[in-house]
Amino acid sequence: MKSIVAIVGRPNVGKSTLFNRIVGERRAIVDDMPGVTRDRNYAVVERYDKPFILVDTGGFEPVTEDRMLQQMREQSLLAMEEADVIIFLMDAKQGLTPADTEVASMLRRVDKPVFYVVNKVDGEKIENEAAEFYALGIDNMHTISAAHNRGIRDLLDEIQELLPDNALPGEDEVTSIAVVGRPNVGKSSLVNRLLGFERVVANPVAGTTRDSVDTFFSCNKQRYCLIDTAGIRRKGKTSQKLEKYSVVDALKSIDRADVVLIVLNAEDGITEQDKHIAGYVYEAGRSCLFVVNKWDTLEKDNKTIGKFVEQIQYEFKFLAFAPIVFVSAKTGQRIHKVMEEAAEVAEQYSRRVTTSELNRVFKEAVEAHHAPLHHACRVKFYFATQVAVKPPTFAIFTNQPDGVLTPYQRYLGNRFRDAFGFKGTPFRLLFRGRE
Ligand code: GDP
Ligand code: GDP
Repeated sequence: MKSIVAIVGRPNVGKSTLFNRIVGERRAIVDDMPGVTRDRNYAVVERYDKPFILVDTGGFEPVTEDRMLQQMREQSLLAMEEADVIIFLMDAKQGLTPADTEVASMLRRVDKPVFYVVNKVDGEKIENEAAEFYALGIDNMHTISAAHNRGIRDLLDEIQELLPDNALPGEDEVTSIAVVGRPNVGKSSLVNRLLGFERVVANPVAGTTRDSVDTFFSCNKQRYCLIDTAGIRRKGKTSQKLEKYSVVDALKSIDRADVVLIVLNAEDGITEQDKHIAGYVYEAGRSCLFVVNKWDTLEKDNKTIGKFVEQIQYEFKFLAFAPIVFVSAKTGQRIHKVMEEAAEVAEQYSRRVTTSELNRVFKEAVEAHHAPLHHACRVKFYFATQVAVKPPTFAIFTNQPDGVLTPYQRYLGNRFRDAFGFKGTPFRLLFRGRE
């Protein structure tokens, strides 16, 4: 598991600038405009000896001074819970503020390394002015200029020293989730529900561009990464922007995902476009589940769910293995089911079946129903072995790899599914030759 380094600080002290500086590419917005809604930013930083996940906890819109303080507390708490190292950023230009003092006193009680860093120290002159920050009673104060790349290297060297050596690349421990569906089915609402950020999103400023950012979060001790959620969330009010989160973006995020949430709109039923999107998911061989959203809009009786399930199973036969959840992103109804199912599906997607169990099932299947002759020759099977996960992939050794035709492949596939379940995940059978 990679270590987490979190940046905490008031709005405008330069958190995103520092974030970008450390990440080494422009990933977050840098903007003087107040009211630009920003969410937590995360990036996996791998340019230094020990890789880590950098978190910019900023992005809460300051409404009033009180509200800002409250948000600062929330940010700091978040960082205290999640982070291994905390960077508390202040602003030399604005000087020491009461909010800084309060947060500093909160952080002093944390049992984690905290770096007190004064930003916007662009030159010697300001260096002297930054002296007032020593009033906080902190010995080891860093002065930097994120904008001018001053003091950053030293800061990072010290941070690197504190990170554990065994912070292995944690890619495999992170389950990537993509959320796809037509415009307006409720993807952003769902994402924000899942992240618990429903308050933060509302009004992206028109014209604000922003690179896609993956959002990492934890749920039941498993780490997840929501792909391109910024792309979903930044979406403005114009239909042009709605169009933009279209097939290309969906494809890109499907490609990077372990689990795809295919969002449908209960109000509209199933459309051609839904089928196209689901088709991409199927072809990509990803695990998936259906999330039927806007469940609150229907007049329901005790048959409504059953009918919907039937319809989905009929329209998306190729994804018959995908579980279906009925939710309302608006009311929050059954939202917890989404992550429950996603977790289970992700597990199946990377599941390993033992060779002995696999061959028992395989042998029983073959014995119950022999493969038809191929060119008057018996098709003989030797053994099966799992050669990959994500999705589970099995090599089956036979004397006639071309002699195992689709119906028999399907039969074997069905037996495998009966035996192993593989809820929510496709799996592959490869037939390989062996004399
Ligand atoms: P955030 O709200 O804390 O994420 O702050 P931003 O990174 O968006 O920065 C707020 C403003 O401060 C922007 O106009 C930045 O260009 C500016 N800024 C950031 N770092 C520095 C710095 O080192 N020196 C100076 N002079 N300005 C900076
Ligand atoms: P996206 O285009 O797929 O990201 O969809 P949005 O999340 O922007 O939602 C589109 C519209 O549907 C917005 O007006 C939402 O408020 C509304 N909406 C989203 N989820 C629900 C829901 O569960 N119930 C109802 N009634 N409306 C919803």
